[in-house]
Amino acid sequence: MSLDSIRIVLVNTSHPGNIGAVARAMKNMGISDLALVEPRKFPHDEATWRAASANDILEAAQIFATLEEAIADCGLVVGTSARGRTIPWPLLDPRHCAEQAYAETRRHKVALVFGREDRGLTNEELQQCNLHVNIPANEEYSSLNLGMAVQVLCYELRMAHLSGDLSADPLAEWDLPPATPEALARYFDHLEETLLEMGFLNPKAPKQLMTRLRRLYTRARPDEMEVNILRGILTSTQYQIREQAAKTAATKEPEA
Ligand code: SAH
Repeated sequence: MSLDSIRIVLVNTSHPGNIGAVARAMKNMGISDLALVEPRKFPHDEATWRAASANDILEAAQIFATLEEAIADCGLVVGTSARGRTIPWPLLDPRHCAEQAYAETRRHKVALVFGREDRGLTNEELQQCNLHVNIPANEEYSSLNLGMAVQVLCYELRMAHLSGDLSADPLAEWDLPPATPEALARYFDHLEETLLEMGFLNPKAPKQLMTRLRRLYTRARPDEMEVNILRGILTSTQYQIREQAAKTAATKEPEA
């Protein structure tokens, strides 16, 4: 376990100065893995200037085209949000979040995802996270500057690291690793396809069905084998539907 397994992910950041401030906040707390998803201006002098002596973090930052790619190898993904959303997700404060995130670094990489300065993260992005964290700021003005929000979370991660307490790991005794975000994304595609095929999901009135199912599975955190079993059930269901459809079509054919 270590702070080396923590990845800070910034999505579509507008101001390069904020990226520099994030690098500095990370280095001060001993965290170094920075991932940038579609940064609007990077590299940029202002980022370098604000990073001060944390320029090495900027130089090593990985750039991704999508959030999916930036978190593909992470066993736990935490989304940050300054406000509540229509469909609530499991929500933690920074201290409890950091205790869990740090304890889980024993096993896998952990991503903390931060949003755009003007609009935060989209619902679709937040739905790719296992849990959400909110800094319980002044209700009348709850949105922190991006660099400050990263600082708060990195500080709490450092405190968790210094305490050495690993009791907050919900998967402590589990025998298999949780399915990767990539495997879960493939499962959701397969599930949606099957639900459409069986007529359970109506594309004209999908309501929030897929969002609610996504929440169920990201909350349950199925392991690799469980996701394989679920995929197998879907494949078998599709086979039955297609067999049935073929039989019905055959009985309808006029006799020769
Ligand atoms: N107006 C946006 C806030 C953007 S602030 C909104 O309402 O969502 C930029 C980013 O800083 C956010 O996406 C989040 O990653 C982080 N942030 C700011 N304030 C936060 C808070 N109170 N709790 C958690 N994250 C916060």
